[in-house]
Amino acid sequence: MEQLGGRHVRQDAVAGKVRRRLAAASVCAVWLLAGFDRPAAQQPQDRLKAAVEALGASKVTSLRLVGSGAAYFVGQSPSPRDPWPRVTVKHYDATIDFGTPAMRIDITRDRGASPPRGGGQPFTGEQRVIEYVNDESAWDVPMAPAAGPASTPRPQPAAATERILQVFLTPHGFLRAAVANYGTSRNVPEGTEVSFSVPPGRRFVGIINARNQVERVRTWNNNPVLGDMVIEATYSDYQAVPGGLQFPMHIVQTQGGYPSLDLRLTSVEANAKADLAIPESIVGAVSPPLRVEIERVADGVLWLTGGSHHSVAIEMRDHVILVEAPLNEPRSEVLLAALKQAIPTKPIRFVVNTHPHFDHAGGLRTFVAEGATVVTHEINRPYFETAWTRSRTLGPDRLSRSGGKAVFQAFRDKHVLTDGGRVVEVHRISGSPHHDGFAMVYLPAEKLLIEGDAYTPAAAAAPAPPSNPTAINLHDNIRRLKLSVARIVPLHGPRVAALDDLTKAIGR
Ligand SMILES: [Zn+2]
Repeated sequence: MEQLGGRHVRQDAVAGKVRRRLAAASVCAVWLLAGFDRPAAQQPQDRLKAAVEALGASKVTSLRLVGSGAAYFVGQSPSPRDPWPRVTVKHYDATIDFGTPAMRIDITRDRGASPPRGGGQPFTGEQRVIEYVNDESAWDVPMAPAAGPASTPRPQPAAATERILQVFLTPHGFLRAAVANYGTSRNVPEGTEVSFSVPPGRRFVGIINARNQVERVRTWNNNPVLGDMVIEATYSDYQAVPGGLQFPMHIVQTQGGYPSLDLRLTSVEANAKADLAIPESIVGAVSPPLRVEIERVADGVLWLTGGSHHSVAIEMRDHVILVEAPLNEPRSEVLLAALKQAIPTKPIRFVVNTHPHFDHAGGLRTFVAEGATVVTHEINRPYFETAWTRSRTLGPDRLSRSGGKAVFQAFRDKHVLTDGGRVVEVHRISGSPHHDGFAMVYLPAEKLLIEGDAYTPAAAAAPAPPSNPTAINLHDNIRRLKLSVARIVPLHGPRVAALDDLTKAIGR
């Protein structure tokens, strides 16, 4: 699921500063490269100069890369110990403009006949999309898999920062930025380590090997779950390409320690032309303002919608249980404000997390800082405990500022929260292809089931989406646990559904 939120306005500002600095940097690169003839340069610094010459980094203002390989859905693994789910990349065609900087990636992903376990695959079969970034703007153009008319561009302001980082992770982008940002060099066992920072604090560290090739580049991006998340690119199989360049034909990237992209290139073209202009409809596009809509689905049970990911507040005698804190701190802040207005006298004492996918867990820390105990499946607890001790210099949040520590109630099969009156049951959704530590919440008196990512009801008038193994598994769990469900309150989707809707959706 996309991350939508107010934070992105701030991220865009950060991205803008990074871009302006890098763009300014590339303008003066020629001058700085000329300055390399100065004597008395230190030996590690000579390595940077040698790499710029060997790879032809000063000769290239843009690159077109064509290939295929694999892409992975970051933050969507089927368990805390698994890598990100993989899909095939049938076609990859990227054009990178170092000067602007800007980038266009035409990518066709193919989920194949047997989709991987985990989340983050909002399509079946094949999906083709063209992803753009230019200065502070990012947008996507979804395409029909076969040749067909292009769709309307969709703004993706939240993606701008990472896409710009990608430009400067490339060997040539890295070398150009290293020269222009006065990169410092030192010898390390693997070669020469070159590092530099771009205001307001984006750091790049790369390794240049004895053959004067950029072997690895690393940077960091803010992630609401993992904090300062490492993005690392590894380059191998360098070959000479037209235009006096060398370029690696094998690119592997990791994010948060697991592969995120693995590409074999079939062609590299220097100084390629591409239309990277910002469409009129995208100029100045920002994320829509965050809002929370409240629908009372039962006495003291509030469905909190208004964005891509919903939450549910359950009012207990002297406190509130919140089910799900999705996305990020800005989403949590508007949820918090809405709850303080709707239920002003009761603190949020528990926050139930259905599973640790980034889009469903990125807002938890805000409620921890508010004093809420996290209820999650036992396999997720050590994952959060480790993730939440990492540094958060790129995106400090309420919890990192307060120095507070998370309190958990972890469970294996079932956990009951009660105030003596209302009973709230948290059950494991067992055997789901979506996640091993997957939870749903059941209110027996109200016959309500709260779940996310297992089943998303279609709009009432829309045709039902094709049946999927995750929804079938949810239905199996409801039967196995003999839950008497009347209505399903989903954490995605436009409406509260009847159990019947799920039964029909899975073709039973
Ligand atoms: Zn998920």
